[in-house]
Amino acid sequence: MIQIKDTVDSRRFEINSNSIHFGPWHISYNISCILPSVCSTKVVCERDDDQFCQFCIYCKELTIPHFPDMVFPKNILTLTHKSGASINFNPLDALKRVANTVEAIEVACAEAWQESRPDAGKKKRTFDWTFATDYKGTFTDNIVIQATDETINYDILKQKEQILFYHDLTLFEDELHDHGVSKLSVKIRVMPSCWYLLLRYFLRVDDVLVRSNETRMFHMLNSDYVLREYTVKESLAKDLNIPTAQMKEADDVIPFLPVKEKVTEKLIVNF
Ligand SMILES: [Zn+2]
Repeated sequence: MIQIKDTVDSRRFEINSNSIHFGPWHISYNISCILPSVCSTKVVCERDDDQFCQFCIYCKELTIPHFPDMVFPKNILTLTHKSGASINFNPLDALKRVANTVEAIEVACAEAWQESRPDAGKKKRTFDWTFATDYKGTFTDNIVIQATDETINYDILKQKEQILFYHDLTLFEDELHDHGVSKLSVKIRVMPSCWYLLLRYFLRVDDVLVRSNETRMFHMLNSDYVLREYTVKESLAKDLNIPTAQMKEADDVIPFLPVKEKVTEKLIVNF
């Protein structure tokens, strides 16, 4: 679980935040600016006192050699239960799950990418440059995860309930050198009877491949669990009857992608 502690460059991060109480839950988000591309406080970071700027924290914690073009290190969504259990979504933990070995690169995608860009083949890529992550959130130990047959009740979400709280946070984004997009975002919606969130990794390598890894979470007021549904969808661009120009937005293309994997689990808050 990430500690939102002050870093030496915290003054550079003007943080905006907002929060709401929902039954025993406190739901909050922070928004801040982009991760710098170099160390901003070398004198401090090179000292031997464990104080580092955000950039140096990312370099220390991650093994991938490049970060996405835009990382928002303090864009964090946190749901804290009064028992002390908490669920949060942060870009650092998501990027820890990006593969950094050659073997882990999705071969079909990498080959297709290199065919579409002959110059790309010259440079050996030694990590997953699509930043694919199967991150499903960061949890405290007192949340028990169990398999379940219960599914999210989308009919409840379709009811026209008042929206008490809403936000859409980008955790990271990369434009793949103008050849597509790799983006991780999380949005939360709180209604009088429930809360619902969607963490979405969306990848579009133009004319090659489209993929999404989505985690949905749903919690009804007065219940002691959260349903989590994880869905992986993927298609080669040539198998989709959609022009590239109409695939710009995730919502335009994800509904048409075939499902490769779907798992639903219950997160039980351990009182
Ligand atoms: Zn630094």
